[in-house]
Amino acid sequence: MGKYKVAIVGGGPAGMASAIAIGKILKPHEREIVLIEKTDLGEKLLLTGGGRSNIANSRDIKEQLLKFNISNKNFLKHSFYTFTNNDLLNIFKEKGLEFKQEQDGRYFPINGDANSILKILKGYLNELKINVQLNSHVKSITKENNEFNINIKDKNNIKSLKVILSTGGISYPKTGSTGEGYEIAKTLKHNISLIKPGLVSFKSNDKNLQKLSGLRLRDVEVSFLGEKNRVRGDVLISHFGLSGPEILNLSNYYNENKAISIDLIPDLTEEELNKKIIGDLSLKGKTLLKNYLKYYLRKRFIDYFLNVIEISEDKKLSNLSKSEKRKIINNLKNLTINLNGVFSRKSAMITCGGVKTDEINPKTMESNIIPGLFFAGELLEPCGLTGGYNLQMAFSTGFLAGKSIAESIK
Ligand SMILES: Cc1cc2nc3c(=O)[nH]c(=O)nc-3n(C[C@H](O)[C@H](O)[C@H](O)COP(=O)(O)OP(=O)(O)OC[C@H]3O[C@@H](n4cnc5c(N)ncnc54)[C@H](O)[C@@H]3O)c2cc1C
Repeated sequence: MGKYKVAIVGGGPAGMASAIAIGKILKPHEREIVLIEKTDLGEKLLLTGGGRSNIANSRDIKEQLLKFNISNKNFLKHSFYTFTNNDLLNIFKEKGLEFKQEQDGRYFPINGDANSILKILKGYLNELKINVQLNSHVKSITKENNEFNINIKDKNNIKSLKVILSTGGISYPKTGSTGEGYEIAKTLKHNISLIKPGLVSFKSNDKNLQKLSGLRLRDVEVSFLGEKNRVRGDVLISHFGLSGPEILNLSNYYNENKAISIDLIPDLTEEELNKKIIGDLSLKGKTLLKNYLKYYLRKRFIDYFLNVIEISEDKKLSNLSKSEKRKIINNLKNLTINLNGVFSRKSAMITCGGVKTDEINPKTMESNIIPGLFFAGELLEPCGLTGGYNLQMAFSTGFLAGKSIAESIK
């Protein structure tokens, strides 16, 4: 049976960051650490950003923190200030990897290769002489007499004074994140908030919509029907429903909603649009509705729209009744699309919900319930929007957990 001071369970970005933080602070003789990983290190990391890894974001930390869906708004503050976006980039820059900034402050490695990020992390683990145990599936963890007993499938148990649990969420389970960490946390007396797929596409059984697969509605505003939270950007129509970065972002707030509302003309208020259309009616009275709609909608989308508003495409503007004009304006500003749920965790990028943050000390990431137990990464409750925020959370909370432990041992 191996005996360690610190056992880190889960070798994703959070677990690797914890190990590197400890390794950088303590000399090898001061620490005995083991990083236990079920499959291989950083399997999910390799898929991030479409294989290019959007690792961080250039926004101010205050703004980054607003990108998380979490009731306890201050929970991530300390970790994000302790290990900032610049600190994160610097550990790679020190090894010669440069970054470029893209839309909305997203950082990617300049060579566009997530593997270069993983290689550097593995290099650190090697250089800092961290003991890594791959293909080691942790089945349970118990604590007795101030020591954790880590039970590993088909292998010898490990004993450790401290444990960092960084087993990820439930999304993309083929990468190793199958949600077992939640069960382990539960047996260690922690509560888990409602878990659901995040950054995931919407399903819609609307057959007419599905026929438009591949069409992009550019720069529209989307919200759940009757709700205030709005996102603005492109919406991609697929064979099964709706996707695109802003739809993924909105999905973090999905709560069994039955429909979304799309504002197809977000730059004009309803009054401005009304005024414009009334002006156009007197100037372009002979224009057919289907041709007039080309000012507002993509050609392929006009048939769908006419079908929704149930007005003949050959109607002239001058022949539109008052209620038909209203219907057109209402639907340009609030087009309702019925939803049939979201896609499963298999295609979700992240997990929303997790180990409850009010049971964890945000200054150290240590459990308030079981001393010596720490949490890091996606296993935790907060879930972030697209833009590099989720990896930043994994690295920042992982680094803070490692640093807190190292400083307590020193
Ligand atoms: C397709 C895709 C693209 C993404 N793109 C981005 C992006 O560009 N930018 C961004 O910020 N975020 C992105 N994300 C999200 C990001 O990958 C995660 O937020 C991040 O990987 C979480 O890190 P983690 O270390 O907490 O968990 P994980 O990366 O999930 O790592 C957890 C590790 O724990 C191991 N493990 C689980 N259970 C056990 C067990 N019982 N015993 C031992 N080991 C165990 C797993 O095998 C895994 O290696 C993306 C996610 C996906 C799926």
